[in-house]
Amino acid sequence: MENCVFCKIIKGEIPSAKVYEDEHVYAFKDINPAAPVHVLVVPKLHIESLEQLNDENINCVTHIHKGIKKVAEIEGINKDGYRVIVNCGKDAGQTVFHLHYHVLGGTKMDEKIL
Ligand code: AMP
Ligand code: ZN
Repeated sequence: MENCVFCKIIKGEIPSAKVYEDEHVYAFKDINPAAPVHVLVVPKLHIESLEQLNDENINCVTHIHKGIKKVAEIEGINKDGYRVIVNCGKDAGQTVFHLHYHVLGGTKMDEKIL
């Protein structure tokens, strides 16, 4: 999608610190990390948010979750654990409208809202 920052990152038009990539997903370090490990896992397909998932594209969720496990292993946080966050829409504070899963870890997270 034109003018989508994450589509540009996937295409290599904007630089990123790649952590993992396969046919379906791209994972890279968040530019403004909220934890020692903060990686974004995104589908290569442009999907704006969880609200845009449908019968045609829902398979990407499987690929994203496989990608999250790969990222956790690569970053060495799979044993101690990690948190996965998806912001959907304006009330959740979503700022980039290309579906992305935040993978956070590398520390014991004290602030817990849920
Ligand atoms: P959200 O608030 O859930 O939409 O998250 C968007 C995330 O994308 C934020 O944590 C930003 O720091 C991150 N972000 C925005 N632009 C870039 C970029 N060019 N490279 C890496 N991360 C980015
Ligand atoms: Zn996009």
